[in-house]
Amino acid sequence: MNTVATSPADSGTASGPSPLEHISALEGKYLLHTYNRYPLVLARGKGVFLFDADGKRYLDFVSGLGVNALGHGHPRIVKTIRDQAAKLLHVSNLYYHEYQGPLAEKLCTLSGLNRAFFSNSGTEAIEGSIKLARLAGHRAGGEAKCRLVALEGSYHGRTFGALSLTGQDKHRKGFEPMLEGVTFVKQNDLESLRAAVNDNTCAIVLEPIFGEGGIYECTPEFLRECRSLADRHKAALIFDEIQCGLGRTGTLFAFQSFGVTPDIVAIAKPIAAGLPLGAFLAKEELASAISPGQHGTTFGGGPLACRVALEFLSILEDEKVLDNVNRVGGYLHQQLETVVEKHAAAIGVRGRGFIQGIQLEIPARPIVDAGLAEGILFNSTQDTVVRFLPPYLLQEKHVDKGIRVLKKLLGKKLKAAA
Ligand SMILES: *Cc1c(COP(=O)(O)O)cnc(C)c1O
Repeated sequence: MNTVATSPADSGTASGPSPLEHISALEGKYLLHTYNRYPLVLARGKGVFLFDADGKRYLDFVSGLGVNALGHGHPRIVKTIRDQAAKLLHVSNLYYHEYQGPLAEKLCTLSGLNRAFFSNSGTEAIEGSIKLARLAGHRAGGEAKCRLVALEGSYHGRTFGALSLTGQDKHRKGFEPMLEGVTFVKQNDLESLRAAVNDNTCAIVLEPIFGEGGIYECTPEFLRECRSLADRHKAALIFDEIQCGLGRTGTLFAFQSFGVTPDIVAIAKPIAAGLPLGAFLAKEELASAISPGQHGTTFGGGPLACRVALEFLSILEDEKVLDNVNRVGGYLHQQLETVVEKHAAAIGVRGRGFIQGIQLEIPARPIVDAGLAEGILFNSTQDTVVRFLPPYLLQEKHVDKGIRVLKKLLGKKLKAAA
């Protein structure tokens, strides 16, 4: 079959199905049905733009859910991948290669933590974090010191450990029983936090800013109380910065924006600029609880992903990328506030830098759907939040375009509702 697009993606003609029709039919037949995708076949990207199979351009406010922090086709990332692909892709963790040690050194130096473990994904970084916290807990307080405290409304991933910490029924339903020993507390509720943490707690696990949960920030006061309770009860304070970390808040680690240092931080999404890589970084006091053979991974920390991650971190420094996140993130916040002022359906703005959300009083999904026709990729979460996770290279003029379209769509919505 001729797969070259000669007609609009969703029309199809006498010459055969469009790329969208063809691919969605194939996936509908052969893929496990876990996603309701948007009607869009993405074919390539350049900077903050993506192009569909027909060449239509989209401004990207999603960056593959926080992954493509340097946008698409960054020349230094492309060059690094090409070069390393020809040299060495994979060796397994049985052997040394040139890039895992330097990447660990860099992340430890930048975070102030001591040791790294590399995984393939965010959820695995959480699994490793809680496994380490259990080991350290048992070492400090015996079998009973195994309990975990997590937050209602949180999201930590889809494997059983991470799912057991995820405080949203919609993700857990049908998969019970979960991991034992998890207590949930309300975000920013000091009373229920104090009631939940005790000497049997091995870890408090939280996202400093809820991502999937709808862009809700922990208050510095709440984070400081987590820190002091963890210290008092010899529990590990674990921050899940898989979505909010590595520059998205305007500092390399989100905890540096909040002034509270965790014992373990989990990172993933943007770390290898689009390749699968996750990691957790731990303080020595905890890291020393694990020995060879107790945890591992076949793919995690391979030469390709680690070298690209080193390049990603160098680009952040060389191109002063976080200055852009701070400046344009501030501008985005200001512009979203003007949307709230002008449109009754928009009631608040949350987040900072390039992790922000605008709270609507109407469903957000129709806004995202209508954005596609306007050439903008928006994202929605928790039904009524439009979430912004743009590439770090986004400029003011791109914000202006997105805001113009958002205002137009909200205007239409209001008219339709009236
Ligand atoms: C995406 C995400 C995860 C899970 O990462 P995966 O790579 O999808 O396994 C965990 N925690 C947070 C905060 C996330 O945003």
